[in-house]
Amino acid sequence: MPELPEVETVRRGLAPVMEGARFVRVEQRRPDLRFPFPKNFSKRLEGASVEGLGRRAKYLLAELSSGEVLLMHLGMSGSFRVLHGSDERGPGKFHHARGKLSAHDHVVFHMSNGAIITFNDPRRFGYMKLIARDALARDPMIELLGPEPLGNAFDGGMLAEACTGKKTSLKAALSDQRVVAGLGNIYVCEALHRAHLSPKRIASTIADRAGKPNARAHALAEAIRDVLNDSIRAGGSSLRDHRQTDGDLGYFQHSFRVYDRAGEKCPTPKCKGTIRRIVQGTRSTFFCPVCQK
Ligand SMILES: [Zn+2]
Repeated sequence: MPELPEVETVRRGLAPVMEGARFVRVEQRRPDLRFPFPKNFSKRLEGASVEGLGRRAKYLLAELSSGEVLLMHLGMSGSFRVLHGSDERGPGKFHHARGKLSAHDHVVFHMSNGAIITFNDPRRFGYMKLIARDALARDPMIELLGPEPLGNAFDGGMLAEACTGKKTSLKAALSDQRVVAGLGNIYVCEALHRAHLSPKRIASTIADRAGKPNARAHALAEAIRDVLNDSIRAGGSSLRDHRQTDGDLGYFQHSFRVYDRAGEKCPTPKCKGTIRRIVQGTRSTFFCPVCQK
């Protein structure tokens, strides 16, 4: 499932062709994805221009001149591809991929700058919503989200506050979108390894009783930011479906330190540990029992 870096990679690919452009024509090829499309979806988009393309957690948010916001979620297997008018005549791997997958092309945006933006989603867990801009903060998808880990305000203090009194494991706390938004299994495992903290550690132990952060909280906040930024620089992680908007794979999966590396030697310098897989909740956790305490 795409996590924050994959969604941010997609945002960076879409922003240059969406921002400032107008929806000339919108093809909606099914009545629903995970949820039904909004009423009059195409009509409400056509004629509107995109004033900005932002991201909150794993949601892409296109601010429209109509006063609405187009919220887009990639679900498990959603991806966007961008074609420019001139690309369609030329050969190339990208053109080939388009023909092969078109059965799962569910939405196509024809933009005023000539860009053709296609949303493809074989498993159809993705969705799109139109929300009035002034109602966005109260939308149930957005309202309960915790701090944005790449936001300027995010630090150990914020993380400690969110974990104060939490008797769950750090793994469970960090996977909770109300504690910190946008992380999933991969980046939680990777951040905990970088911070040398055990996924089994009780979440509240990164704060004192009053909620003040200790060294663990600061190390963890820094590790979260670092792993997300490193992944975004690599175009995200392509395990199954993630593609950048030009069709290229992300390659951060080659830089995983623990995720899906059970049995391998721990990459921490001087650590003699071996990466282990355990199950927490229903999900696999990968960690080093020697250097993660
Ligand atoms: Zn280790």
